Amino acid sequence: MENRANPPLETLDVEAAWTAFERRDRAADGRFVVAVKTTGIYCRPSCAARRPRREHVAFYADPDGARAAGFRACRRCLPDAVARDRRAVAEAIAMIEVAEEMPVLSDLAERVGYAPHHFHRLFRRATGVTPAAYARACRAARTTEALSHDMSITRALYEAGYAGPSRFYADSEQRLGMAPGQWRRGGDGVTIDWAVVPTPLGPLLLAATPRGLALIAFEADDTALIAAFPAASIRPATGETLRRLVQAVAEVDLADPQLPEAARRTAFEEAVSCRWLALATKA
Ligand SMILES: [Zn+2]
Repeated sequence: MENRANPPLETLDVEAAWTAFERRDRAADGRFVVAVKTTGIYCRPSCAARRPRREHVAFYADPDGARAAGFRACRRCLPDAVARDRRAVAEAIAMIEVAEEMPVLSDLAERVGYAPHHFHRLFRRATGVTPAAYARACRAARTTEALSHDMSITRALYEAGYAGPSRFYADSEQRLGMAPGQWRRGGDGVTIDWAVVPTPLGPLLLAATPRGLALIAFEADDTALIAAFPAASIRPATGETLRRLVQAVAEVDLADPQLPEAARRTAFEEAVSCRWLALATKA
């Protein structure tokens, strides 16, 4: 199915393919396979195996082409599994997004047909975050959504998928960057340092308080921030805070470009949040 979209061998850009292979570019997985004439094996471009000499390499648009030429699949990178892996990750993402409670790893893995440990690694490699982190990002989005409606905080926390208030309040500090009550009052009494940091997925607005990130979203300026926190004192981040925000973004891996755009952005935001918290706690 996916292979049909691949270019035939004649039109495959061999220079670009070699560069991607040299860099072990995960984004190239599924676009072509690399056959090594000296070993008789073909790999996905990101295979961790040592790189052969260029003259020993042939590129094929898909595994079928490599097999027809007499090569067999690498047991290390499992090039035939790329499409299936990608589908499984996309399916798991869809399940996490609609789940009312935090999904359990073993359930998720079972539903997409993988062993839990293997699926955990696969998910992380494809998205840059663990399934649990992705689920926390979805819950955080539900929390802010629920809080912005006119319901009690107690109802909002159940609405967001929390089993009870203790976990909710512990999370909220970091997730909202302030107490839920303050959040609801438009950031009353809170100072927020913001920056827009360029990323490969677009400009990312980061709004930090001394307790956590009050807002992280793909926005080009502070308009959304001012709208969300009319009562807060908002100022551009400088010095150490700015440095740390930029560093958090720089240290994050991009998700597989063939995953849905919204999922890639969610994963990226979550990965940046985690990095930023780690950097802020270390300081
Ligand atoms: Zn391999």
